Amino acid sequence: MIRIEAQPWRAMVEHARRTYPNECCGAMLGVMDSGEKVVREALPLENAYAGAQASRYELRPEDLMAADRAARERHMDLIGIYHSHPDCDAYFSATDLRNSCPWYSFVVLSIQKGEFHHANSWLPNVEQTEAAKEELTY
Ligand SMILES: [Zn+2]
Repeated sequence: MIRIEAQPWRAMVEHARRTYPNECCGAMLGVMDSGEKVVREALPLENAYAGAQASRYELRPEDLMAADRAARERHMDLIGIYHSHPDCDAYFSATDLRNSCPWYSFVVLSIQKGEFHHANSWLPNVEQTEAAKEELTY
């Protein structure tokens, strides 16, 4: 179960709307609170994908490492990754699965015609063969 606080949630939606019609991506920093993941801060990262960014995102490993460091400096953890799906549902694609890591939550925001539509959080398994839907509140 993952809960995103109001301030980081607004930042994520705003980031996704701003980058439309391209995909945005970023890191979610937070804490574990009695078995629940709580996102306290969203850290927008650059979509480093060299091709068409309307349907793909790529994170640089060094950006992810910097996000992890930033989290620890603030006594938090890197809880997950978010990205947007412009004019597409918030499903977890085969590419998303391939590029995932099993220890993070992956929040996908569906942006339809430039406006936020819905979101889902996904938990990939260790083999990266499937992702289970995680209960998400924001
Ligand atoms: Zn995706």
